[in-house]
Amino acid sequence: MNDRNLINLNIGELKVLMNELDEKPFRANQLFEWISKGVVDYSEMRNLPKSLIDKLIDSGYYVGLPEIIRSQESRDGTVKCLFRFRDGAEVESVFMKYDYGNSICISSQVGCRMGCSFCASTMDGLERNLTGGEMLGEVLAMRNHTGEDIGHVVVMGMGEPLDNYDELSKLIRLIHNPKGYNLGLRNITVSTCGIIPGMQKFADDFPQVNLAVSLHAPNQELREKTMPVAKKYTYKDLIQACREYTYKTSRRITFEYALIDGVNDSKNCAEELASNLKGMLAHVNLIPLNEVEGRSYRQASGDNVKRFKDILEKKGVAVTVRRTLGSDIDAACGQLKRNRKG
Ligand code: SAH
Repeated sequence: MNDRNLINLNIGELKVLMNELDEKPFRANQLFEWISKGVVDYSEMRNLPKSLIDKLIDSGYYVGLPEIIRSQESRDGTVKCLFRFRDGAEVESVFMKYDYGNSICISSQVGCRMGCSFCASTMDGLERNLTGGEMLGEVLAMRNHTGEDIGHVVVMGMGEPLDNYDELSKLIRLIHNPKGYNLGLRNITVSTCGIIPGMQKFADDFPQVNLAVSLHAPNQELREKTMPVAKKYTYKDLIQACREYTYKTSRRITFEYALIDGVNDSKNCAEELASNLKGMLAHVNLIPLNEVEGRSYRQASGDNVKRFKDILEKKGVAVTVRRTLGSDIDAACGQLKRNRKG
């Protein structure tokens, strides 16, 4: 890659660069620390010698965070930013306040090619993958912008993270590095629409990172109607892969289930879902559908949400209803897009 944005480099790669520039290897650590703090201006990197800074500048290296094109703050304190990268690609990220601390929901791709029929992020297809450094850039730019610490990162914005596995891995390693941002692996959550080979690899590579699976249906027939990915990775295989994930990692899986009026919110759906998940180390997160402009789906009624939850509970499935944050600024699940309107 020709891009000379230092944010994409881990310490090992920075050491190689220091070597090329005829500088001492420990300078790599210093640079990495500054970058992880979100400092982009070399003049603020006080412990770096001017000679090194001059060499970096002369060879075109820079620390680039995405530019904030627009920022909206919701009544509940949620902040949504539209970020633009150097090539003009745009994504949205959302900062949220919870009882347990601040969290950011980041995008992993510009657009998405998964085609879920209820989601805004996929409406214009996939433009490109983000790099691990660009994903880190969303976190650092949001922290700079809000002035708040961010102790949880959820990869639940635009894009399918397991469709961009290598760069997702890079992000996790960069942000977890104790010399840098030092985010605990258990403070990271990755959400997938159910790409089975990616889930298997993820269990091996990052057993400590939380995994969420967007299920949204109690059977193959219904899932196929709203989520094209189900044609490739079937319901039965997905549930089996999830069970294997829990055996291998001893970690609980969160199943996301957006309740859509008249589509997947019936009593039968709840019962079928409960029986599929029976005995699994699992937790269901019900999300009353967030309505998306240009999509005909409607949010399930409060009564149906309650009935669905009660049935799962009665059948012994752990379940919560996700608190919706930021819906007044279209920052809720499934509402992130890359265009600037709306
Ligand atoms: N591609 C990954 C990451 C996106 S996470 C995945 O599918 O998991 C975003 C979450 O919001 C997913 O669970 C997604 O299915 C859900 N979602 C999408 N559109 C939604 C909508 N309109 N209302 C509620 N949730 C939605």
